[in-house]
Amino acid sequence: MKTRNDAIALDGDDPLARLRDRFALTPDVIYLDGNSLGVPPIAAAARAQEVIAHEWTEGLIRSWNAAGWFALPRRLGDKLAPLVGAAPDELVVTDTISVNLFKLLSAALKMASERDSGRRVIVSERANFPTDLYIAQGLIEQLDRGYTLRLVDDPAELPDAIDEDTAVAMITHVNYRTGHMHDMAALTQVIQRAGALALWDLAHSAGAVPVDLNGVHADFAVGCTYKYLNGGPGSPAFAWVAKRHQDALAQPLSGWWGHRAPFEMDPVYAPGQGIGRFLCGTQPIVSMSLVEAGLDVFLATDMQAIRRKSLALTDAFIELVHTRCAGQPLTLVTPRAHAQRGSHVSFEHPHGYEVMQALIARGVIGDYREPRVLRFGFTPLYTRFVDVWDAVETLRDVLETNAWRAPEFAARHSVT
Ligand SMILES: *Cc1c(COP(=O)(O)O)cnc(C)c1O
Repeated sequence: MKTRNDAIALDGDDPLARLRDRFALTPDVIYLDGNSLGVPPIAAAARAQEVIAHEWTEGLIRSWNAAGWFALPRRLGDKLAPLVGAAPDELVVTDTISVNLFKLLSAALKMASERDSGRRVIVSERANFPTDLYIAQGLIEQLDRGYTLRLVDDPAELPDAIDEDTAVAMITHVNYRTGHMHDMAALTQVIQRAGALALWDLAHSAGAVPVDLNGVHADFAVGCTYKYLNGGPGSPAFAWVAKRHQDALAQPLSGWWGHRAPFEMDPVYAPGQGIGRFLCGTQPIVSMSLVEAGLDVFLATDMQAIRRKSLALTDAFIELVHTRCAGQPLTLVTPRAHAQRGSHVSFEHPHGYEVMQALIARGVIGDYREPRVLRFGFTPLYTRFVDVWDAVETLRDVLETNAWRAPEFAARHSVT
């Protein structure tokens, strides 16, 4: 891709190009932040209208049965399952990643200690998304049983850090800052050979890269629906538990939605069979209903096609930044090797925050992550090659003209 016309030609040959029509895109915006909050599918607005005007207004309480509200977390779980290599009744859409990590990490620690009470270490990466580490820290404190969190600084150190003391390795597949992707099959094998359990965070993987949870024989996973799955701001996350573990696993948020028979109103908790026991309480039905509009778009394609386009987009972006912005103090922090890259690309710049604000002011929306990282997400369902070209040209201009030095771009917002 050497010219803007090359980019237009690539879009002309793109088998996924027509899927862009299913999204409510804003004119004059190049949106490279679908890894943080996806764009609304056009169907989402009609679905919201239907849920509020028909299911809620007319159906009222009857809709828990008649509109399938009560079954929604499991029905959407089954719909999402094929995108991450899960089987029916292995996945529920519910709560947030933070809450689901709390449930699954506590359950996994209990399972590990029943097998071998000496295992008191949770292994993760210091560069993991902070909420994952915070949840582990809070749980360790709450349990007060001598658990520790062992953090490595380099992904390559993980295999050596997982040993006979390890209860659970809690690993995020694609790193939120660098875009580095782990080899999930190889690492799951290392974890399980050491006698530990593998808990994967798929926040930047689901809908972005092919994942095969059962194929790699993973134990547990959590993931997000408002990033690459386009479910809407704060749409519920998901939790996955391998079939073989479900009935042996006790989760601590033993709310009534996870009960064997919630409407028997039994004063004693008895967990349900299957994945339903990982639910806790009443779910945000309006928000959860919109998740389906996002998932439906994936029915028209498959993760292999999405991955092919994602790699083509990210390759093109990396090459263009190197050629068109040569001489600028930009350092690629995302691995170039395809097997180690997710669907976003990050560059460090000494004034990353200001540069990103200047880009956003010109309609190129990426985001900024501490320290100094400009982050650009590529979502093959709606990102075009010409968007890649135009985004790099805008970046080049912002850097060459020093437009980012305008004082208004230095003001810090609470969400970066
Ligand atoms: C986005 C993200 C989260 C978000 O957690 P919530 O509790 O759903 O807000 C968690 N972990 C990772 C790795 C993420 O990228």
